[in-house]
Amino acid sequence: MFIHQIPSLIPRIFPKLIWEGNHDQDEPNVYFTFDDGPCPEITNFVLDELNKYQAKASFFCIGKNMLEFPELTRLTLDNGHRIGNHTMHHANAWKMNEIAYLKDIQECDEVMSSFGIQSVGFRPPYGRLRSSFYHTKSASLPIYMWSILTGDYNQTLDTRQVLISCKKAVKPGAILVFHDSLKAFPLLKIILPELLHDCVEKGLKPISL
Ligand SMILES: [Zn+2]
Repeated sequence: MFIHQIPSLIPRIFPKLIWEGNHDQDEPNVYFTFDDGPCPEITNFVLDELNKYQAKASFFCIGKNMLEFPELTRLTLDNGHRIGNHTMHHANAWKMNEIAYLKDIQECDEVMSSFGIQSVGFRPPYGRLRSSFYHTKSASLPIYMWSILTGDYNQTLDTRQVLISCKKAVKPGAILVFHDSLKAFPLLKIILPELLHDCVEKGLKPISL
């Protein structure tokens, strides 16, 4: 069974990572985040859907994709969203040494600087980190995880079930993960409009991190 809501034990084990966004009773915010873009047409779809609700979001972009699709990177910024570091090549922390991993993050930072982007923070691809990185970097670098994994990249999931589980898990401060990628699009195109609508109907305001 696919677990959409992160069990509360995990943030207690890794308290230096960020598992939920700021929120209070007066302004119940919710945080839509999109990984792996920008990607032509898919990112455009996401931006259009967000605009329908004046929603703002955070995009954890891959450096090489930002270089490949600079107009889309600028369009994301021009629409008032924020961009964070998702490494240059979607690096897997468990499959490379730390020097190479840090270099991949640095390269993505340099791409962001070339666009004048003030990074929102870092999200590790696959949610994977080495413990040395966790202990040395988390004090100086905001590392954003999530509280709700939509699973949009998983084509075996039942759309209806995804919506039921995600709607149930949504609450003030929730950070939802989507992917603006070709692989995720079949599910994304259905669940994103529904979840945006659901949040707004519940009085939750989608803002960027
Ligand atoms: Zn990713």
